[in-house]
Amino acid sequence: MSTNSNSSSTTNRISSFAFMIVIAVMALSIVAFGLAAWTWVEGDNELYAIFLAGTGALALTLSTYMLLQSRRTAVMMKTATSKVMTTVECRKCGFKNVRDFQRGDYVYKELEACQKCPDDKMIITAIFKEVKEKEKTYNF
Ligand SMILES: [Zn+2]
Repeated sequence: MSTNSNSSSTTNRISSFAFMIVIAVMALSIVAFGLAAWTWVEGDNELYAIFLAGTGALALTLSTYMLLQSRRTAVMMKTATSKVMTTVECRKCGFKNVRDFQRGDYVYKELEACQKCPDDKMIITAIFKEVKEKEKTYNF
């Protein structure tokens, strides 16, 4: 549980940092476009205007690519850190409990006594990966 939330918060920190860089590059490209337009209107250095516009276009392309790339990475990391759950069941009364996967869990492993009938032990009946729908479409 604790390791899971830790890793997901790290993911958020990385992606927001990447997002900040992307925003900065985008802002710079807009500035470059503005400068290019201004230089073009002034008309004294057309080559410089073209260079600025080119730089702006390159920065914009790069930042867009980074944005798409980092989003894809974030989605992949989110999927990788999806929860593994363990189903614990009592054979006697059928009491069922789903909890976080713990190291050493395996199917048919005997656990602590049942909450309802303490003389009978509970067993692990299933171990599965919980896939949350919202994690698939991760946004900044
Ligand atoms: Zn029971």
